[in-house]
Amino acid sequence: MPQPNLAAPSFGSLSLEQKAALLSGRDFWSTQPFEAAGVPSIVLTDGPHGVRRQAGHFDHLGLHDAVPATCFPPAVTVGSSWDPGVAGKIGAAVGREARALGVHIALGPGVNIKRSPLCGRNFEYYSEDPLLAGLLGAAHVQGQQGQGVGASVKHFAANNQETDRMLVSADADERTLREIYLPAFEHIVTQARPATVMCAYNKINGVYAAQNRWLLTRVLREEWGFGGAVVSDWGAVHDPVAALAAGLDLEMPGTDGQSAQRIVDAVRAGELDEAVVDAAVGRVLVLTGLAADPAGPADPGHPAGPASPAGGFDADAHHALARQLAADCAVLLKNDGGVLPLTGRGPIAVVGEFARTPRYQGGGSSHVNPTRVDAPLDAIRALAAGHGRAVGFAPGFTLGGSGAGTGDGTGDSAALRAEAVAAARHAEVTVVFAGLGEREESEGFDRETLDLPAAQADLIRAVAAASPRTVVVLSHGGVVSLEGWHDDVDAILDGFLLGQAGGAAVADLLFGVANPSGHLAETIPQRLADNPSYVNFPGEQGHVRYGEGVMVGYRWYATVGLPVRYPFGHGLSYTTFATSDLTVGVTGPDTARASVTVTNTGERAGQHVIQVYVATTAGPVRRPVRELRAFTKVSLEPGETRTVPLDLDRRAFAYYDIREAGWIVAPGTYVVQVGENAATVIGEAAISLTGDLIIPELTLDSTVQDWFTHPIVGATLLDELTAQMTDEQRSGLPADPDLLRLVASMPMRTAVGMLGGAVPEATLQRLMARSRRPD
Ligand code: BGC
Repeated sequence: MPQPNLAAPSFGSLSLEQKAALLSGRDFWSTQPFEAAGVPSIVLTDGPHGVRRQAGHFDHLGLHDAVPATCFPPAVTVGSSWDPGVAGKIGAAVGREARALGVHIALGPGVNIKRSPLCGRNFEYYSEDPLLAGLLGAAHVQGQQGQGVGASVKHFAANNQETDRMLVSADADERTLREIYLPAFEHIVTQARPATVMCAYNKINGVYAAQNRWLLTRVLREEWGFGGAVVSDWGAVHDPVAALAAGLDLEMPGTDGQSAQRIVDAVRAGELDEAVVDAAVGRVLVLTGLAADPAGPADPGHPAGPASPAGGFDADAHHALARQLAADCAVLLKNDGGVLPLTGRGPIAVVGEFARTPRYQGGGSSHVNPTRVDAPLDAIRALAAGHGRAVGFAPGFTLGGSGAGTGDGTGDSAALRAEAVAAARHAEVTVVFAGLGEREESEGFDRETLDLPAAQADLIRAVAAASPRTVVVLSHGGVVSLEGWHDDVDAILDGFLLGQAGGAAVADLLFGVANPSGHLAETIPQRLADNPSYVNFPGEQGHVRYGEGVMVGYRWYATVGLPVRYPFGHGLSYTTFATSDLTVGVTGPDTARASVTVTNTGERAGQHVIQVYVATTAGPVRRPVRELRAFTKVSLEPGETRTVPLDLDRRAFAYYDIREAGWIVAPGTYVVQVGENAATVIGEAAISLTGDLIIPELTLDSTVQDWFTHPIVGATLLDELTAQMTDEQRSGLPADPDLLRLVASMPMRTAVGMLGGAVPEATLQRLMARSRRPD
């Protein structure tokens, strides 16, 4: 797969002032050119699921419109596909459109973890699980960069809420960061080599991400080998000199030369090494190579001219692609009595303003000006007509404000509800389109409830009481509660935000033209208060404490056995699958290979997601009861059987050990589980791994237990400690096991101190030296 052209022009002829000017934007969306020195400008713009190329007024909050581009399903929806192929196709299509619209770097994907279902920007993120987020994000990057357009993986890191997002300190312990919040970035950086990483607004443990040397240099560059440029989120830089020293390369947007001047002043004052400037300039110049790519963007000029709507890309083909991909993502949560697909002949009632005015994308910087929008109602009418079925419609509720507003039932709710109930009463089946409006969730703020607007919940209950059968189709970016109406309805199709062709995709799914194959990428809890971050979200007084540690999402619900409405990984199909013959073979000291057989036991072709979890109690840290470690989606014709291998690498078994400052596979037993979802195990096999031999360094502060269990020193410790003791001293040692337990947690210094001079200092020194030098 081609990578963007990343050959750096030389910058020998640039002055310090020119170099400093290269390190912040020329304006909102482009970098500073130096034509005489052969340095072009490049354009960076949003965003993950469609190009937001602004030709007029500039903003980074999606307030002003952009030239038309295809709005593909946002990440929340792609997450449910569990299919890197879907993410890759979206990345490639965004890349094609970016090139056509003169964009060199499209700012995405967003791979932050959904710590709380309230985060207003969860629609831009894939999952509560880092493996799923990482594999999908890597596929997006590869697809996009394969078109010669750079990606910007964001927001690095621990940007898991919108409340106070530009200032808050995300306070998380290192194991939690390493195991939950960093792995998606790590996977993408090491496997897909994105041209840029975008640092987050927030602080991490008190230090702004933009100025966080540990994050931007030690972890990102030194450990993961990132060779691209670090770009700031728009306005994330507080101190350009500190940011540069920490590892930031390009501040966006431009600051009218103010940051450049501060950098020049710092170099002249001897406070900043010019070599640091040169290193960052080198990396920005490599990026400008994207403009030189002969196959690169068609219109690299600035500002974006009045680019012809959809000029240069095939808008029809991309719309059709958006429709097909959306159908691969929607999750069939419930389908009692096989009410779906709609195969009957009787009249259909469609209820809900969202059927006519669809909600299909999120608000803020990722907001795309779509090339067209399919309304579900039109698409349902078109498909129903083919079967001679009548379709009635009642809006059921109004949308506050313009467009896909609040869905809050402003207007005469009772009258709207009565009209909908009347329509439902005469139908064979009623399809209710419910969800959240753009005003209820967006970049910039978090939600306060998981509930649907009350007018909609009332409407669903009333319609379900009147209609022989009721199907609910949901549109929303963050998880919504299904409580209070779930049991009243026969089927629920969760579309999340399906992009501009989502209306047609929903109709395809409702009528069985497409078979649902999405699975939840995040848990739907019964109560908001069950969420592990509940008491620590969104923090207070400038800090948000990640007190739940690694127990995020399903890791928490499964570990404590909390019932949820639908678990992570849940999703139904119009066909059925049988899973059998799980075998797991150890392939090395810390690796294994699972193999599982899947059969399509139903009547329709369908796609099935094989989910492999690993469960263990090995090692010195508390592990979640199970963690997703491999998955794959397979397409099967009716009756078809396939045996699928899934490799489990070292990381599938490892935890991050803060004492060793690294990933450790503890020797011991690991249970490899095939899950129907994160709560239901349908097959498992135990393996034993050799793992890593950890040889901790003993000190006088190490506990008595640490000393006695030490792999080198432990076995002979008692003999060594007592070698020079008198019989009387020996007889004073605790022999009772209960007493031994009492001293087990005592530092050796204290324990030995209590024995007077019975153990010579030299003995301890010799043993400590031996613990550090295994022979
Ligand atoms: C967002 C970024 C976005 C940038 C440019 C910021 O507000 O956090 O995700 O890429 O604006 O629009």
